[in-house]
Amino acid sequence: MTNQNVVISEAKTGLAVATAVAVSESNFYSPAMPKPLVAANGYFPRKKSIKKLETNGGGGARINAFIDSMRASSPTRRASETEDQKSWIIHHPSALSMFEDIMNASEGKEIVVFLDYDGTLSPIVEDPDRAFMTNEMREAVRDVAKYFPTAIVSGRCRAKVHNFVKLSELYYAGSHGLDIQRPTKGHKKQRKGNQSVFCQPAREFLPMIEEVHKILLEKMKFIPGAKVENNKFCLSVHFRCVDERIWGELGEQVREVLKNYPTLRLSQGRKVLEIRPAIKWDKGSALEFLLESLGYDKSNNVLPVYIGDDRTDEDAFKVLRKRGQGLGILVSKAPKETKASYSLQEPSEVMYFLKRLAEWKKSSLPRH
Ligand SMILES: [Mg+2]
Repeated sequence: MTNQNVVISEAKTGLAVATAVAVSESNFYSPAMPKPLVAANGYFPRKKSIKKLETNGGGGARINAFIDSMRASSPTRRASETEDQKSWIIHHPSALSMFEDIMNASEGKEIVVFLDYDGTLSPIVEDPDRAFMTNEMREAVRDVAKYFPTAIVSGRCRAKVHNFVKLSELYYAGSHGLDIQRPTKGHKKQRKGNQSVFCQPAREFLPMIEEVHKILLEKMKFIPGAKVENNKFCLSVHFRCVDERIWGELGEQVREVLKNYPTLRLSQGRKVLEIRPAIKWDKGSALEFLLESLGYDKSNNVLPVYIGDDRTDEDAFKVLRKRGQGLGILVSKAPKETKASYSLQEPSEVMYFLKRLAEWKKSSLPRH
């Protein structure tokens, strides 16, 4: 296959900027693709050092750094974001604005769709148990799954996210990819694939996770607004409804508990602390596992499309960059450091993107 580049003018994004973005036919993450945000654009990305947190040791400086990192992972929008927004969107153009060009460049490739749940298919809400997706969104996901293998990749417990989505034709990767199940009905490509797709690489951690869940439930009783969620192979401590003045106390209590469990690690998402087995497995590993199980591990003829909004989705965006193929789309209204190449502002835009994807495929099929 030739390596003709499709050059997409920034004018198509609605911005009067002369910069051009190139989409390679054979490699969506070509060197010509926009790099993640840099300080020269007036926006400083969050510090990389906050991705993983030490759970041992103490000290005031470390505690302060910890609280700072909780704030950094849970930003609130600033009033003067307009300029940042403009420069960010140049580097991460809207996947809707660029839709035609992206699809033209993907011709001949088999698309596989990966979708995060919270903040991607459903709005972020105060009570995580009420993060429902709309029926219209469900229809959009159902339509996409008619034409492409489709997976939900979430930090949630697999059963819980399945219960939210209610579509049995999808793959489900719960607990940040630590619990993967194949569809129970659906796409012919899925049926042709490995029937034994079922992956739980941290099974031996289940008793420990249960134990830590109980301890954290007890500790968080005294932090008003804190909510501990058991995601089976990982735990979430939500602090969206906790007064910011006691975030430090909450974080310190969680760290104290984890001192006794060195094989667990702590990471952060949007107003949530995540506790997971310290094994080398994340949403990116789940993406690779699913592509392999579909027979695409060594294929140049596949276009994985991954849409997510959270820090944990960056692991999947990184895998796409490493593979040199695929389409990473970050869901965000505000500028963020990301390895994704494109953006969508909110779940409603994700829905329109999914609808267009299904319509595009339907219209490209031969008519009988
Ligand atoms: Mg999310």
